[in-house]
Amino acid sequence: MNERVYNFSAGPSMLPLSALERAGSEITNYRGSGMSVMEMSHRSKVFQQIFDETQEKLRRLMKVPDGYKILFLQTGASGQFSMIPLNLMGPNGSADYAVTGNFAGIAAKEAAKYGTVNIAADTSDRDHSYIPTQEQLKLSPDARYFYYCSNNTIYGTEWQYVPETGKVPLVCDMSSDILSRPVDVSKYGIIYAGAQKNMAPAGLTVVIIKEDLAGHELPYTPLMMNYKTMIDKDSMYNTPPCWCIYMLGLNLDWIEEQGGVEGMQKLSQLRSSMLYDTLDNSRLFHCHAEKGSRSGMNVTFRTGSDELDAKFVAESTAAGFINLKGHRKVGGMRASIYNAMPVEGVEKLCDFIKEFDKNN
Ligand SMILES: *Cc1c(COP(=O)(O)O)cnc(C)c1O
Repeated sequence: MNERVYNFSAGPSMLPLSALERAGSEITNYRGSGMSVMEMSHRSKVFQQIFDETQEKLRRLMKVPDGYKILFLQTGASGQFSMIPLNLMGPNGSADYAVTGNFAGIAAKEAAKYGTVNIAADTSDRDHSYIPTQEQLKLSPDARYFYYCSNNTIYGTEWQYVPETGKVPLVCDMSSDILSRPVDVSKYGIIYAGAQKNMAPAGLTVVIIKEDLAGHELPYTPLMMNYKTMIDKDSMYNTPPCWCIYMLGLNLDWIEEQGGVEGMQKLSQLRSSMLYDTLDNSRLFHCHAEKGSRSGMNVTFRTGSDELDAKFVAESTAAGFINLKGHRKVGGMRASIYNAMPVEGVEKLCDFIKEFDKNN
């Protein structure tokens, strides 16, 4: 294949071409250092500068207030399913979990090992096709934290509001919609995201934590799962994922050039409204997510016929639209249209959908 494809993968997913090209041009000799970022000591001055600048860019783009620390960790977003209760649940504690999809469900199950989990909402009654309203949330006043996942990658739903939980700190998995719209970080206790959807290559997990939430970990918390360890050592207790941090920095440069998170939101609205309009106006296709709960990042749809779905996936792949097959839990198709997906890619996909709709 000579050309880059439109890759609609749910993750790892597309990165901006400018970031990849920049990395390519610096891959054997990073800015006169005589070595690749992959070969550098994480304790070197040159890497420390990459690290600090990446932190500053993210802080600037997300307007992270004082009193919050940005951590660059490993073990994926899934590692946070354990790390959060280990650090926040406290002895004999309880927490509220809104189960609106696969990953929130796994997180709730994991947390139940360390304390009492109250299910604040469970949308499995309609196959996770919607987001509960504020009024539907069953909140416990003595919960140590309220946990939710802002964008459900597999089902294609997204919270359009920030839950109001009073004094109970909000903890949010933003793996698949971070940096796609403005977020008021001051409303949260913890925001975290696996980088491979919207930020960087796989191997980096970004955690934004209100510092006073750390230091209350359960006594058996592993050293590497303790936020305090990582806050005190500025994410460098051990070797951090250096290459991913560097790539994140290059991606953030691109986001800044596009007008920051407001620019990303404009692009996201353009892409997703085009795609949803095309699907809504088709004869064959139906969206999985209910209106009002639809994700700007993961668009889930189907024809209702497994054979036609398979035909669509095969023909779209042959036409250069890659990874449109839906997750096995939902079936059908899923187009993941993260920050780096060019608007042109969605335009062409919409044309393909219209053509397929006409011919079948
Ligand atoms: C992909 C994803 C995860 C799991 O991420 P890993 O880094 O593979 O552990 C968790 N939550 C959400 C919302 C995701 O999209």
